[in-house]
Amino acid sequence: MKLTTVPRPLDLAQLFPGLAAHARTATRLHPRPGVPSISGSHVGGPLLWPADEAWPRCAQPHRVEVRHPVPPEEAARLGSRPDPISTARRYPGYFGVEHHAAGTHLITHVTRPEPVSGPLLPVAQLRAQDVPDLPLPAGKDLLQVLWCPHVHPEVRDQSGPAVRLRWRAQADICGPSAAAPAPVREPDEMFRPRACVLYPEQVVEYPWWQELPEQLGRQVRAFDDSREFGQPSYYAVSQARGWKVGGHANWGSTDRQPMTCEGCSREMTLVLSMTSSESFGGTWRTEQEADLEPSWTDPRWRDADRPTGVSVGWDDALRIFACLSCPGTPFRLNAQ
Ligand SMILES: [Zn+2]
Ligand SMILES: [Zn+2]
Repeated sequence: MKLTTVPRPLDLAQLFPGLAAHARTATRLHPRPGVPSISGSHVGGPLLWPADEAWPRCAQPHRVEVRHPVPPEEAARLGSRPDPISTARRYPGYFGVEHHAAGTHLITHVTRPEPVSGPLLPVAQLRAQDVPDLPLPAGKDLLQVLWCPHVHPEVRDQSGPAVRLRWRAQADICGPSAAAPAPVREPDEMFRPRACVLYPEQVVEYPWWQELPEQLGRQVRAFDDSREFGQPSYYAVSQARGWKVGGHANWGSTDRQPMTCEGCSREMTLVLSMTSSESFGGTWRTEQEADLEPSWTDPRWRDADRPTGVSVGWDDALRIFACLSCPGTPFRLNAQ
């Protein structure tokens, strides 16, 4: 199977003279549920892991959901929509209330240490030969992404899973591969990627308007402000949605934030964008799946739009930026 993005509804390079110089390719990964092989590129599958290398584990405290049964008279007092501020004063970490026939539960979010450190979960394995835009430090041709599948309130730039990376040269991985150890605690459902095979496709992207030279950026903004509802915009067409490698970052939730390396003070490179939705039926849907209408009850649409089952970031995306020249390849996360 081959997956290709529908033709761009706007020719941005032609609309904005001078923009072509800022074009960059990205590789849309197009993950779809399947049976990945350990040696290939994939999301949520097994990793080529040296048998003599310890599997990474997480010993950080996690945010957990606690459900407290509420006596009937207190449930009546709380009502169906308690005031969040006064309720949080009485119940620290208050998150919500649930009324069922069997009784009422108050839900709180608390941060607590784990008694035993848990193994990280494989998230993605990406090989240079499958993913043309994969940014790599010198001498490496494979990137492995793992995370601890719980909420880490202390993680910088986001409060989701704690990500770890392994950059490797495939030729250096010899011997049998170690399998991921069984989890100590059930992973949070939204951080458990479904096993997916990839159908990589290179696309052309243009920068977020705040990353363009000032005058060009203003032109782009004015163009978008003039668009009617439903008309394609620079915003919708310039950066790909969905899981992708390389390319330009979309800063739709926060405006542009500098992702500077603390080692060398240079801007880090966008390595991987992970999203909940691939296109939501918009301009980044694929030609092969263009007939599918958004529908939670249609498994074909869910497989096309929410293939990994992962939900990260404040709204829709978690991105990994890395410095490819500093020792140890430092990286930062950004949530949108
Ligand atoms: Zn953790
Ligand atoms: Zn650096």
